[in-house]
This record gives sequence, structure tokens and C-alpha cells, in this order.
Amino acid sequence: MKSLFYGGTHPPQKKELCLKTPEPLAAPAILTIPLRQHIGAPCKPLVSVGDLVKAGQKIGDGEGLCVPVHTPVAGIVEDIKEMPYPGGGTVLSVIIRNNFTDVKDNTLTAHPEDTVFSAEELIRIVREAGITGMGGATFPTDVKIRSGIGKVDTLIANGCECEPYITADDLLLRERARDVLRGLRCIASVLEPKRIVIAVENNKKEAIAAVTEALSSFAGMVCLPVPTCYPQGAEKQLIMAVTGREVPSGGLPADAGCAVFNVATLAAVCRAVYEGKPLTERIVTVTGEAVREPKNVIAAIGTPFSALIEAAGGLTEDADKVISGGPMMGIAQNALDAPVTKGTNAVLCLSRKDNREVEHPVCIRCGKCLTVCPIRLQPLNMYLYAEAKNAEELQKLHLNDCIECGCCAYVCPAKLPLTARFKEGKRFLKEETKA
Ligand code: SF4
Ligand code: SF4
Repeated sequence: MKSLFYGGTHPPQKKELCLKTPEPLAAPAILTIPLRQHIGAPCKPLVSVGDLVKAGQKIGDGEGLCVPVHTPVAGIVEDIKEMPYPGGGTVLSVIIRNNFTDVKDNTLTAHPEDTVFSAEELIRIVREAGITGMGGATFPTDVKIRSGIGKVDTLIANGCECEPYITADDLLLRERARDVLRGLRCIASVLEPKRIVIAVENNKKEAIAAVTEALSSFAGMVCLPVPTCYPQGAEKQLIMAVTGREVPSGGLPADAGCAVFNVATLAAVCRAVYEGKPLTERIVTVTGEAVREPKNVIAAIGTPFSALIEAAGGLTEDADKVISGGPMMGIAQNALDAPVTKGTNAVLCLSRKDNREVEHPVCIRCGKCLTVCPIRLQPLNMYLYAEAKNAEELQKLHLNDCIECGCCAYVCPAKLPLTARFKEGKRFLKEETKA
């Protein structure tokens, strides 16, 4: 099947390394819960050092574009301090010493299956459960629902998971398709779209079969297999594939009449609504050639990457790099003490032979980057102006429209660190705008 959007690429999938049923991972003795795990303002701590907390208790919250964070375990607040964050740098975090009592906080309510929610009720439940996009973007889900009311005719569940190696969403769909559809039904009840689509890349045959079977008890939804092409799971590319519509430059999916929710996010909505549980755990794929026994685990938010790698048999001798996320968009880690967050879908361990870095990369003007950019940008020129810190030219080149998919860097024969420069360039533009 031909790709349904411009550009894109076909990196080796490597998903066969890890197609195992997710195993629950015991929560560790010490958990590090970052107070910012979403796009927007950080939470302020609601607890103090020495406080006793219950499993599921809200421990941070804030105003504006912000969702609360909860502790997955009962225990004692040992510290509140800046700690390493998988997205880079440090974030103020609450350190919990697990007391293994499993005493639960029951603030959230489990609702019966036939409950009819008003938009405000559903938005409040989703917010109070601390739900953010779990496909990597970490945008607050309550805000996304609110912004789609009255504007959306097409609601899309994103089960594409197009990044190589990662299988967390695939396994979720295989094993809990019904929960994903229950979450989708809740959101559909307030957005009232004309069309509801569960989009899954056509390389995930078992997931498509599981969704198709579960759909027999959900009216008005369809499963749409889409071509396997990276970055099919990016919102703009998925909207193009499903509706043929283009999200305008600088615009949102709602501007094209669409709302897109990752399937793990929908399963989290289901848990919040029908079980009264906040978002305190998620499926993480621990994989790559440099980990001994790749596996999917259900990990408590706050568990250090080192514990996940240990559960997967540890690193091999030629391990070179550990990445939070996939090989195309993931972020290399300096140390293994960064914790699992709401947006962590994978811990990827690569060996020396997978390392693409070269010491003094030089562009050979082959033009390949231009042919794969799904946003039709000019990666080469953007790279030159990002290196030169030229804000005016970067704006003219629409750097901020770059979705950081990594296609250009992947095909670049000179191995220029294009995406890394674009991330730096965006930060630079933000600072320039502020100044
Ligand atoms: S990282 Fe940005 S510039 Fe490169 S292909 Fe993706 S969208 Fe285009
Ligand atoms: S793909 Fe790399 S080498 Fe080729 S034009 Fe683009 S930046 Fe230059």
C-alpha cells in the first residue's frame, strides 16, 4: 500500500525483537515523580518532606496548561528536589520511599458503564486523573477534548506506532482493545463526531484483528488499516491519511475538523472513568540489540530506567547508548536514573554498531533530506541557519513547523545531526522571541 502523505521513509522495523505480552514490574523502593510530565506549566508540590502518602494520591497540581501528578505507591515523601528527566535536563521531582503497604487513595470514583457524562464532567475526570497524551507529545488530554468541542467531525484513535522497535501500543491493542474503545466512546460522547476511526498501521495484523473483534460491541466506529510508513503516527500525517485534509501551518488538528488521541491515552481515560484510577503506570517497551531479553513491562511512573533494563536481563557488553523513546525521535540518556514518565513508551538500548555519529559531518548536497520531509521543509538550509543562529532566516524557513520526526537525519548520507540542531534552533527562536 502506497504512503498517503508526502515524504516519509521506511527504516527497518525491528519490532520482532519485542512482541511479548507486557509483564507487570514490581514498583521499586524509591520512586522519582517529576512535577512536569506534560507540555505546559509544571505542577507545584501538594506534599512536604516527611508526609505519608497513599497509592494514587495527587501529589502535585497547578493552573493553566497543567495536569496533576499522582504517586503510584504508598509511602513517605523523602525529598523534593531537581532530578534528571528523560526529556533532558532536570525537573523538580517528588521522591517517594515505597512502604509496600499499598494503602490506596480513593478520591477518584469508578463510574458504571452506562453513565452519560456532560462535557464538563468528563473533562474534570480526565484532568483529575492526570491524563496526558501518551504517544510522546504529552499534551494535556482534558485541554485537547475541550478544544475539539463543536469543531470536530472526525475523531481518530492513533494506533499507528510507526517508530521502529516500539511495540507498547501494538500489545495494548492486542490485549486491551476493548478498553481503548471504551475510552474512545467516552470522548466521542462529548465531541459528537460524524466519523470515528481507529487507525492502525497495516504491519500490526494481530492488533487489527483484536480491534475488529472488539468493535462488534461498539456501534459507529471503524478500524482503518493505514500504510506502514514513518511517520504515519504523526498527527498531521495521520489526519492527511484518514481524511485527505491538511492541518494549516501553525494550526491544530481541530482546524482541520479532527481530534487525534493515542490508544494508550484512551485506555488511561477508560481506567479513570470506569475504575477511578489516575494515570500512574504505563506499558514501556524495553528493547534494542544491546539489552539481553527485550520485553514489554507495565511500569509505575517514577521507576528508574535502570530497573527496567535490569528486568530485561541487563545491557550487553557492547551497549553504547540508551534512548528514551525510539531511534527516530527518542532522546539519548546520560545516565540510567531518569524515571519512567507518562510519555515514556520505550527504553531503547543500542550497541556500538548502531551508532550513527561522525566527528565532522559535511553536507554533500545530495538533496535526499528534501524528498523525505513530510512537512516539505528545507532541512539543509534550516541546519545551516540553525548553526549560524540566524532567527530571521529560521522563521522564514518555518522551523517551528518541523515535527522533529528525524526522517531527514535518517536518510542523510553525511550523517548530519539535523533533528538535534532543529530542536536547539527552536529553543533559540523561543528565547529570541522572549527577548
Ligand atoms: S525532522 Fe523536521 S525537517 Fe527533518 S524531516 Fe522531520 S519535519 Fe522535516
Ligand atoms: S541529506 Fe544530508 S547531505 Fe544530503 S543535502 Fe540533506 S543535509 Fe546535505
